[in-house]
Amino acid sequence: MPIFRYHMDNKNVKSQFPAMEEEVLNFWETNKIFAKSVDREAPKKDYVFYDGPPFATGTPHYGHIVASLMKDVVPRYFTMNGYRVERTWGWDCHGLPIENIVEKELGTKSKKDIEAMGVAKFNELCRSKVLGYAKDWEKTIKRLGRWVDFEHGYKTMDLDYMESVWWVFKQLWDKKLIYEGYRSMHICPRCETTLSQSEVAEGYKDIKDLSATVKFELVDEPGTFVLAWTTTPWTLIGNVALAVGEKIDYVLLSCHPREGGDPERYIMAKTRVGEIMKDKECEIVKEFKGSELVGKAYKPLFDYYSEDESLKNKENGWKIYGADFVTTEEGTGVVHIAPAFGEDDLELSKKYNLPFIQHIGMDGIIKPEATDFAGLSVKPIDDHTKTDVEIIKYLAHHNLLFDKAKYEHSYPHCWRCETPLLNYATSSWFVKVEDIKKSALSTAKKINWSPEHIKEGRFGQWLTGARDWSISRQRFWASVLPIWKCAKCGELEVFGAVADLEAKSGAKISDLHKHIVDEITFQCSKCDGQMKRVPDVLDTWFDSGSMPYAQKHYPFADKDKFDANFPAEFIAEGVDQTRAWFYYLHIIANGIFKKAAFKNVIVNGIVQAEDGKKMSKKLNNYPDPNEVLDHYGSDALRAYLLTSPVMQAENLNFSEKGVEEALRKNVMILWNVYKFYELYAPEVHKVHKVESYKVSSSNILDTWIVSKLNLLIKDVTEAMNNYNLPKAVRPITAFIDDLSTWYLRRSRDRFKNEGNDKTNALATMRFVLENLAKVMAPFMPFVAESLWQKVSGHNFASSEKSVHLESWPKAEKINEAVLSEMEMIRKIVEMALAKRDEAGIKIRQPLQQLAVNNYQVSDEYKGLITDELNVKEIICNKGDGDLTVKLDTAITPELAQEGLARDLVRAINGLRKNAGLTIADTVTVYISTTDNDIIKMVNDWKADIMKDTISAEIIVEETPVKVLIREDVKLNKQDVAIALTN
Ligand SMILES: [Zn+2]
Ligand SMILES: [Zn+2]
Repeated sequence: MPIFRYHMDNKNVKSQFPAMEEEVLNFWETNKIFAKSVDREAPKKDYVFYDGPPFATGTPHYGHIVASLMKDVVPRYFTMNGYRVERTWGWDCHGLPIENIVEKELGTKSKKDIEAMGVAKFNELCRSKVLGYAKDWEKTIKRLGRWVDFEHGYKTMDLDYMESVWWVFKQLWDKKLIYEGYRSMHICPRCETTLSQSEVAEGYKDIKDLSATVKFELVDEPGTFVLAWTTTPWTLIGNVALAVGEKIDYVLLSCHPREGGDPERYIMAKTRVGEIMKDKECEIVKEFKGSELVGKAYKPLFDYYSEDESLKNKENGWKIYGADFVTTEEGTGVVHIAPAFGEDDLELSKKYNLPFIQHIGMDGIIKPEATDFAGLSVKPIDDHTKTDVEIIKYLAHHNLLFDKAKYEHSYPHCWRCETPLLNYATSSWFVKVEDIKKSALSTAKKINWSPEHIKEGRFGQWLTGARDWSISRQRFWASVLPIWKCAKCGELEVFGAVADLEAKSGAKISDLHKHIVDEITFQCSKCDGQMKRVPDVLDTWFDSGSMPYAQKHYPFADKDKFDANFPAEFIAEGVDQTRAWFYYLHIIANGIFKKAAFKNVIVNGIVQAEDGKKMSKKLNNYPDPNEVLDHYGSDALRAYLLTSPVMQAENLNFSEKGVEEALRKNVMILWNVYKFYELYAPEVHKVHKVESYKVSSSNILDTWIVSKLNLLIKDVTEAMNNYNLPKAVRPITAFIDDLSTWYLRRSRDRFKNEGNDKTNALATMRFVLENLAKVMAPFMPFVAESLWQKVSGHNFASSEKSVHLESWPKAEKINEAVLSEMEMIRKIVEMALAKRDEAGIKIRQPLQQLAVNNYQVSDEYKGLITDELNVKEIICNKGDGDLTVKLDTAITPELAQEGLARDLVRAINGLRKNAGLTIADTVTVYISTTDNDIIKMVNDWKADIMKDTISAEIIVEETPVKVLIREDVKLNKQDVAIALTN
């Protein structure tokens, strides 16, 4: 049973706060507070925020919640600072995530199945599934308290959006930043499509493969084998050459098999002999440089292609070539070359005009020509070494295998369907990132990252190593390449607007998806051929990276506004987007405008389960976000996440206890402070349109808490201007603790008394709570709203005002002297309390004296210490040493009696509480005892006890029959019956 169930059922945790939050949500909705915050005059104009659109193909998880929090907190903060922050929702609609869902439902096994059913039908199914979970998203995001406009949200599948994507494409095309190339790329054989560098980087996993050391027999020296090592035996059918390092030392060996028989002759790199031949007895026959091997011919391992007369460049095949990329770190120092399945291989084959054998299709299936293996999938997802085993068996059978071994390495997998990827030479369309890089690196210097290390680290490094971006995909449901090509002369035409294509083709166009635009053809302008669209679709990241332009249909609409508001002030996403959304936004913006797309960015880490494992529905190792919101409330979850390292790109192990603690430390303690204030605040503090109290008290506690408040405002403001959310929120929690455990605790009696000091305490408290509500508003918007409405004299039923429409508070004067002195006072108290603890004397027992050594406590602070420590006097001894305290722990009869009086007060107030009495109820107290100590104590301390327990009389006699409450309490080490009557 998961741990969280235990917590959730714990009734002590259940609070009134989630219900209060629902009330606030209702208030915001009824009074359109979010719309007001955007529509009103903004003296500082627009603050532009870009939202990365999520997929609605599943319900939102904690990663989305974390991202949503950043996207809520920062806009709220800048709104209060006088900016207009528009926030429009967007949905990512295209690409493999949605295609895979539809494929699963249809049960299709391959791309051919989709082509058989028809692209139109498939795409329309995708369209119908795109917003499957949109309502769930809206519910969770709203409950979280995030303000965002769902109603006017965009979808990447809208015609307007897709037209802007075409505009982006055309911009890059016109700048000669898009080209078609034949490259060695990673493909997913199941999805049958190429992938980009970042998609490939996403899916690396450690797997066990089989490596083979293969024997290539030299044509001129029968019985002599060149040894080459490979971790992809399936590529051996495509072998057309071997590569050696011309300067590397090689050896010819004569080896004696353990089991006897003729000696074998092998050629390999000298430094690798020890490792490869460790099981054999070998002697070196000859030593030579790799250059001597160059040009030698060897026998092909297979005859499927080598016997084919039509194979181009056949005369150059199955020979040894020199190459720079050969090393002796692994293997034999000889590299097997299959130009169709490796980048170096393809480059070498271009250089030396090698034959090209692509014995598998894009689907990863071995072609019929390779008769012994035809139809096998080379890296099947269920058993990725299955075909390699077959190849190795074949080699062994034909005496072509020297050795085989298990080999563990990091191998790329499809990020959507988890199929192992293949390195595969194919043609693709590219964005020339190499040409954009100079501008991209230079504009990246101006971006402010939170945390800062991402700038030069993860992002900077990725950018430096960036290569041309493969943007074409051989799929269906996506934006499409707006390129039309003449089948006859190869003329190309690229469209950046629907109107242009309409003018050229005469067709009326209302949708730019593949199954629609593939039907549009027109005549070539150069010949009598027909122009047809290049059938590829676009990488979905091209959609997302075009978001700044496409979300508002730029440049077809709102052109001036965009021009004035580009780039964005702020974006935020998870650390995985460093190589994805952040990167593509940056590349496209630099490609078109030579500008960065954003100025400030916060990067969040990953939320894991409490045990550090990945959150998994199957393992049920984390609490449902909606249940957490319902149970603890949004502010608790927000405070928990906002103060955690997940806001600084670190991982967080989600702990429900942490949420519970955040609820207690922030919301509950604050609310208890407010409740106390409310209890003693006269009506004047609660009615409408009372101006904020100006604090003019000279009470040291008031000066201290107001200085603390100003310090808080200063700290939070600074942290927010640096986009450091944990640094902004942590001081709030600390302030609430100070407010409750020091200011209020030491001011309790001031609130209870009448007169000027009470007025000052109330005024100060109100001032503090009102401003604290403002400071908390971006982070814990619910409790901030409830608190502000109450202390500023509004209420949800009649108010149209909101703390979120208020201005961000300004830090006023901070009295540093009071802050530092108070810190010393609290330190002294802490040390003295430790002494009390050591002596085992409870705090209710008064003591005579505390000596403070080497520090002079000012007179106005002495009362704070004596009250808090329950001592009669403080003696300060001057000196230069460290601060120390000495507590006089002797209990005189007088002190003992006073302690007993305190015990009685506590006991009576306990009864009052149990009887449900309030400060408005006065009682008569009956104490049934014959203990002389108690009787004397009651006589001596009567007036004080009556005042402290709101009693009219205290009578020592048998308790009457009719009482409000009667309990036995421990007093002076015996059971004493106490009763209250009214
Ligand atoms: Zn795939
Ligand atoms: Zn033509």
